[in-house]
Amino acid sequence: MPVNTAKYKSIINELADKQAILVAVSKTKPVEDIFELYNLGHRDFGENYVQELVDKSVILPADIRWHFIGHLQSNKVKYIAPFVHLIHGVDSFKLLKEISKQGEKAGRRIDCLLQVHIAQEESKFGFNEEELILAMDQVNSLNMTHVRICGLMGMASFTTDMNVVRTEFKQLKKIFEDTRTRLPVSQHPMEILSMGMSSDYKIALDEGTTMVRIGSLLFGEREKKG
Ligand SMILES: *Cc1c(COP(=O)(O)O)cnc(C)c1O
Repeated sequence: MPVNTAKYKSIINELADKQAILVAVSKTKPVEDIFELYNLGHRDFGENYVQELVDKSVILPADIRWHFIGHLQSNKVKYIAPFVHLIHGVDSFKLLKEISKQGEKAGRRIDCLLQVHIAQEESKFGFNEEELILAMDQVNSLNMTHVRICGLMGMASFTTDMNVVRTEFKQLKKIFEDTRTRLPVSQHPMEILSMGMSSDYKIALDEGTTMVRIGSLLFGEREKKG
């Protein structure tokens, strides 16, 4: 399946109007496909699997900004800590502590987004609003110096009912605005709202996303995994 470069360019234009950033989700796709967008100047790529991300990162140019967008297990943080640009799916305080520990070992501060559970499905990960606030207060009290909370991430329900999706995005946007200054912004800037994928990024743009994660519209449908 060839990379849809025309679609890429049109999405980039759409996002530029709203000053949103595109994370090109390249999970399961070959490095040749990534190179194609890289050669058009794209630098932000998203992956879901630690091993795949590590394998790709050693082959591909060092100036790529790698976003980890999948569910991250604590015992795997160490493999991506030295180079990952942004971890989107931080869904527990335990994971955050491990990221901080590995950030310290790697001698850097790791940018993170806290994942909020907005969908109806139980299967999706993330904090509810109450847990989110609790986690933020824990970050505050522990003075974690090797993570930086840069914002929130969420996934809408898997449904064709776009009213449901819109309602969930509105809800996430509100939580984002309500919690933005809960942490000291000099340490935890809280500027990123990562919401919207291939099927719903237009709605996410309406509802104030600052970062969309798009895979299949750019690279074609994926095989079963992912
Ligand atoms: C796979 C994935 C995406 C991209 O999905 P598409 O529908 O292919 O755009 C976005 N976000 C997360 C968390 C994903 O796992």
